[in-house]
Amino acid sequence: MKKTVSFSKNSINVFFHILTKCNLKCMHCYINPKQHGKNTLPIETILSWLTAFYDKRKKTNVIFLGGEPTLHKDLPVAIKKAKEMGYSSITVDTNGYLFNDILSKITNEDLDFLSFSLDGATKEINDKIRGAGSYDTCITGIEKAVSLGFQTSLIYTVNSENIDEFHLMVSLLKRLKIDRFFIQIIGIRGKSADTNSSRLQISVEKWQSIVPSVANKIADLGITVTYPKVFLKPDEVFECAGNVAENYFVFPNGRVYRCPLCEDFPVHGQVFDQDCLTKTPKLNETDFFKLNIPEGCVMNRLIQPGNISYDDDGRPAYKIACCMLKEEIKK
Ligand code: SF4
Ligand code: SF4
Repeated sequence: MKKTVSFSKNSINVFFHILTKCNLKCMHCYINPKQHGKNTLPIETILSWLTAFYDKRKKTNVIFLGGEPTLHKDLPVAIKKAKEMGYSSITVDTNGYLFNDILSKITNEDLDFLSFSLDGATKEINDKIRGAGSYDTCITGIEKAVSLGFQTSLIYTVNSENIDEFHLMVSLLKRLKIDRFFIQIIGIRGKSADTNSSRLQISVEKWQSIVPSVANKIADLGITVTYPKVFLKPDEVFECAGNVAENYFVFPNGRVYRCPLCEDFPVHGQVFDQDCLTKTPKLNETDFFKLNIPEGCVMNRLIQPGNISYDDDGRPAYKIACCMLKEEIKK
C-alpha cells in the first residue's frame, strides 16, 4: 500500500550530527564546515543535548549522523545512554566503514536501525560518486550487520550519475536482505550547490518516469520503501514541517535547525549556548515558515526556484511539498 506519511504531532525526531569529520568526500555531501563547524562533540555534551530534546510525553527518536558517526569513539556509549533515557528509536546513519569496531560494542537490542548509504547499484557508479573502495566496504558492512541480526536500511540519493542503473537496486536489495529502503533526491545543499556538482540534478520527468515504478518493484520484495513526495496534487494540502512537526537538525557547532533546506545559511532558529538550548534573534528560519506562497515551500522557492514551473498567467503549475513529506510503500 502506498501512502503519504503525514507529519506527526506526537513525535520528536532528533537528527544529531555528533561530528562533521568523514573519511569520504562524496560528490554531493551536504556537510558545510563553514556553517556546521569542524568539531567533534565530547560525550558529555552529546548526553547533555540528548537530555535537552528528550520528552517522555512524546515518541522521541534519534538519528546519529556525521560526517561519519562511527568515527566517534564514544558512539556506543551515546547509543546505550539514549536507550536508557527512554528514546523510542535509535538509528545510526553510516557510510559502511563501521569504524572503531562498532558492531562488537553494540547489539541489535541497543540499536533499532543501522542505515547504510550507497549511491550506485554497481561499484563503478557508486565509487565515482562516493570514492574508491566505498562500494565494497559498504556491502561488506551490510552483510556483517545482517549476519549479526541488526535491522538495516539503505539510503540511495538519486542523481544524474546513478539514475540509469537505479533499476538494478531491486536485485541488490533482495540479495542484501535489507529491511527498509530510503530514496532521496539530490538537492542544492553543501557541495551540490557548486556549479560543478549541480550537474548531478535530474529532471522532474526523469524522476517520475523511473523512481516510483522501481520503488514499487522493491516494495514487492517486502521491503518498506520511502521517497520524497516533491509535488502536491491540486487537492493536496501544503504543510511546512517547521510549523507542524518537531524535527531538530543538530550540528556540533551548536546550531539547531528545524528545516534541512536552511542548513547552509546562518538562519537556525535555536542554538546551544553552554549546553542551554536558546532561541536565536529574528530574522531566522521560523520567520520563513510562516510565509504562505502559492509555490508551497518557501525555502525551495528561495534556493532552488528552477524546479517550479508557471502557467501563462504566472501561476505555479503545482506546489512543491515540504522536503520532509514522504511517500511510503509497504506491501
Ligand atoms: S559519507 Fe556522508 S558525510 Fe561523508 S562525505 Fe559522504 S555524504 Fe559526506
Ligand atoms: S522544506 Fe520548506 S516546507 Fe519543509 S520545513 Fe523547510 S521551509 Fe518548511
